[in-house]
Amino acid sequence: MAQEGVRATKGRGRLFDSVLDTIGDTPCIRINNLGPEHATIYVKAEAFNPAASVKDRLAVNIIEAAEREGKLKPGQTVVEATSGNTGIGLAMVCAQKGYPLVVTMAESFSVERRRLMRMLGAKVVLTPKALKGYGMYQKAVELAEAHGWFLARQFETHANAAIHEATTAQEILSDFSGRRLDYFVSGYGTGGTVTGVGRVLKKERPEVKIVLSEPANAALIGSGHPQKRGAHDAPAESHPAFEPHPIQGWTPDFIPHVLQEAIDQKYFDQLIPVAGADGIKWARDLAQKEGVFTGVSGGSTFAVSVQIAEKAAPGSVILCMLPDTGERYLSTPLFDGVAEEMDDEERALSRSTPGAQLP
Ligand code: PMP
Repeated sequence: MAQEGVRATKGRGRLFDSVLDTIGDTPCIRINNLGPEHATIYVKAEAFNPAASVKDRLAVNIIEAAEREGKLKPGQTVVEATSGNTGIGLAMVCAQKGYPLVVTMAESFSVERRRLMRMLGAKVVLTPKALKGYGMYQKAVELAEAHGWFLARQFETHANAAIHEATTAQEILSDFSGRRLDYFVSGYGTGGTVTGVGRVLKKERPEVKIVLSEPANAALIGSGHPQKRGAHDAPAESHPAFEPHPIQGWTPDFIPHVLQEAIDQKYFDQLIPVAGADGIKWARDLAQKEGVFTGVSGGSTFAVSVQIAEKAAPGSVILCMLPDTGERYLSTPLFDGVAEEMDDEERALSRSTPGAQLP
């Protein structure tokens, strides 16, 4: 017996056949020290996935859907354009299943992402920043055609929203079964999360308001300008409302086909723009006041969740998606001002006792 008052755990009561079986079933965690008193915010912490982001879900289903449909042969190379988390997820899945992986990525995304993918065995081909998301996508298409590789097509594939319908949404239904839930708040990269969760919540929990967010300086949906598409429903041009923004993983320079269903079917009840600087502020607050470590997109989703909470009726319950971990942003503005060397306060602490001082 554990000592009284000591936190105890009892294991999961099962063994896992591979790392892939540990994807999903991420916890919804109550926020205790941030946001208004009259409402409750929960965060769904996707950093609990094995490769630490929401995109592990998509990665495993893209590969397994292609296997089921005979589109991916044993040992065939997989290629994808990705801002990082999909590449890291795919690298984890491809490592486990033995497929070589090539990722195309704009040089502007954080360097730790490249190194993580390479650590997981992938090849990373960088594309010029000036060519934006569309450029890295074009490069992936070209490579797939030239070498006969399997192109993952995260922005168009049915396997994307389908996995959120089958996992993310089911987890929310189960965890909030018999419990109040007023709002679900998410941003979009591919739109897989909001489309998959929207399909299910609109049917099973129609009282839940779905709130979608996008960067204030890249409000593609808010602009009302429709996306031009070409072959395979892929974008045929860079969207005119796009501007570079600091919320990595959100809003590419086009409206993805996967997201279009959420727009056309009106899965979201509100669209709220958020400034990247607010996202960074709230990601820091989540780390420092809650011990919850998330990236800029999580901080941005949380910024919108706090806004919703402030205006919501007393007793309201809000669920906020946190797509990944803050550790993925060490080289980005999220960590600006977080020093490596001791500051004045730390030096004073060092001098306050005689032992083990640096010269
Ligand atoms: N945040 C981050 C950090 C991401 O990498 C992604 C996926 N690109 C998202 C949010 C958005 O998820 P989805 O693609 O399901 O819309």
